[in-house]
Amino acid sequence: MEILDGKKIREELLNELTERKNDNLSLAVIQIGHDEASSIYIGQKEKMCQNLNIEFKHYNLEDNVTNDEVINLINKLNNDDTTGILLQLPIPKHLDEQRILNTIDYRKDVDGLTNANVANLALDEPGLVPCTPKGVMTLLNRYNINLEGKNAVIVGRSNLVGKPLFNLMLNKNATVTLCHSKTKNLKEHTLKADILVAAVGKPKFITKEFVKEGAVVIDVGISRVDGKVVGDVDFENVKDLTSYITPVPGGVGPMTIASLAENIFEANKLQK
Ligand code: NAP
Repeated sequence: MEILDGKKIREELLNELTERKNDNLSLAVIQIGHDEASSIYIGQKEKMCQNLNIEFKHYNLEDNVTNDEVINLINKLNNDDTTGILLQLPIPKHLDEQRILNTIDYRKDVDGLTNANVANLALDEPGLVPCTPKGVMTLLNRYNINLEGKNAVIVGRSNLVGKPLFNLMLNKNATVTLCHSKTKNLKEHTLKADILVAAVGKPKFITKEFVKEGAVVIDVGISRVDGKVVGDVDFENVKDLTSYITPVPGGVGPMTIASLAENIFEANKLQK
């Protein structure tokens, strides 16, 4: 069993990007309200930007902001020299999330969530890809884990993780199965997985009964249990069965921020 070390790969990636330093890059983060977890994630993004000399612009709008007010701000950022625009999710329920996201110029959409970028990914055309699934692919790639012809099984079909990862893996010629809460006999699927991805949000959900011997196991989950960060995979129970496994913390999490950094550089290229 070998650990897929997200922290190590993140450092490698960020060092590579440091060498490509470009004084003209900037990231605008739009936060609506004062959600504590969102503020922590934004703080991590700010630190990454500082390290890479990327100008960081934080727009913190009040909870009661209207769709039009958010859209006006995005239109302004679309038309100035901002490189990347990111709407920090979740946003308050009274706002039309997909309409607001779709206002972002797809070439500045560093979270890869506009309809245009969803289509680009599905069609395997150039565009920007959501950071967490992109990070999973980078991690596999850096450990020379080839997907061609492999059975990849993803548990969880969110727009943020499961669905884009499905397309990314399909584009790399894996045979991909996407499972969700209505999937019958989940084990029958996961036991066929050469590469098993858990993106469920249920702590220690995947135990060894779900895992084929020699499988690569990727744990996207992040939950807090008794003040500790826990993944969707019961790591201790599963690890000896696997060929490679990501720890939580220290696996996919660090890759997400590294992918955001990459997306800012890619956004700059797309705009050229
Ligand atoms: P989500 O939107 O809540 O989606 C969870 C998915 O799991 C849904 O598709 C759901 O199915 C499926 N599911 C729930 N119970 C299931 C069951 N018993 N069997 C099979 N499938 C089941 O979550 P998400 O945004 O994708 O996030 C998933 C986890 O990853 C969370 O812990 C989140 O915190 C973490 N996360 C981590 C990062 C990172 O940087 N590492 C980034 C994003 C998310 P239905 O669609 O049928 O409801």
